[in-house]
Amino acid sequence: MVFLSPKICYNALMDEDKTIKIKIRLSEDNTEKIQKRTEKIPKAVEKPRTVLKVVEEIPEEDEIVDKFHKNIPRVPELRTTPFHHEKEDVDKFHETEMPKIPKHSHIENYKMFPEDHHPKRVAPIENKKEKVETGRPKIAIVSLTSCEGCQFALLDLGEKFIELMNKVEMVDFRLLEDEEDAGEKLDIGFVEGNPMTAANKKTLKELRKRSKLLVVVGNCAAMGGIPEIKNYRKEKQTAKHVYRYIQGIENEPIQEVDNFVKVDFTFPGCPITAEEFLAYFPMLLESAATGKTLPEIADKPVCVECKKKGNRCLLLDKKPCFGPMILGGCDAVCPSSKMMCQGCRGLRPTGNVKAMRATLKNMMSDEEFENTTEIYGLRDDIEEREK
Ligand code: SF4
Ligand code: SF4
Ligand code: SF4
Repeated sequence: MVFLSPKICYNALMDEDKTIKIKIRLSEDNTEKIQKRTEKIPKAVEKPRTVLKVVEEIPEEDEIVDKFHKNIPRVPELRTTPFHHEKEDVDKFHETEMPKIPKHSHIENYKMFPEDHHPKRVAPIENKKEKVETGRPKIAIVSLTSCEGCQFALLDLGEKFIELMNKVEMVDFRLLEDEEDAGEKLDIGFVEGNPMTAANKKTLKELRKRSKLLVVVGNCAAMGGIPEIKNYRKEKQTAKHVYRYIQGIENEPIQEVDNFVKVDFTFPGCPITAEEFLAYFPMLLESAATGKTLPEIADKPVCVECKKKGNRCLLLDKKPCFGPMILGGCDAVCPSSKMMCQGCRGLRPTGNVKAMRATLKNMMSDEEFENTTEIYGLRDDIEEREK
């Protein structure tokens, strides 16, 4: 098997006829194996799109090491440890050094080391503790198909996140613990990622059933995210770029969480703004406890924060930016780095798409506009707004 760097793969995928030139270390034996394997690929299945061309053969590492060893004299005294893999040395070591495991002794109760050295290894298996009711609101942060970047944004809060979590009972958060989620009733179920697979959809529906409030976390869950790009390509094209043989690969169109269950609140962004999570979390807890009206994120464009930061507007320099039609709250991170806002936080409720298109007319073609709106799943929302 030959592993290629992501950059090489990316370049190859961009051009199906491309020949990749790689340096590869092959022994004669391996060359023969590869030849045989290649002959075995059934012609009817699929023609390989990418040709691997060996431009330079590098001698086997073993050959270099052997050559090096020949030049140094052997020192027999050093060969008394078992790390030279001669059988007699290893046997001897086992006979003299290794403690004996008594017959019929259960391995879990066997103490190979003193307890103060390895207390965890030798501790007897404890019975599962009875769950203590804390009386605190119960929450779970559940991840579907995603890069988990939004969950990491929360962990990045450090102490602030711990303080927040001390006020609640965390029932499930797989970045922090791997205990089985017992499926308890929840005050708030947070869901990150896209429900792409059948298993994801089942998890999402169960989460909805057990949660008083269901809160969407991040662009993948709210808008389809980067994976939604494939909805705008030919049915199998994207899957073919990733998997050579696509039989058995689930390739459903990408749909946002609210296509499957009712959503009570959304934290937008890719990733979410963790400070925004801190600000709205207490309000959500209150709504879950009292049934009070849910909070809403203020309908302000990215431009408000951009201007507050004293940035020069990109549009003034004829550079495109979606800021005016996109919901603010990210501290205008992209325009502050001289990058256009591509709309990861989604359209503002009153965002004027028509005016935005007209403004960008001389800065990007219709095709560029559409391609850019595909990056964060904005395209379908814009089409819906333009109907
Ligand atoms: S919204 Fe962005 S950061 Fe969050 S899970 Fe999706 S891709 Fe990752
Ligand atoms: S750079 Fe973008 S976000 Fe900033 S003011 Fe201009 S349009 Fe708005
Ligand atoms: S500036 Fe736009 S693309 Fe960048 S984080 Fe904010 S909303 Fe997302």
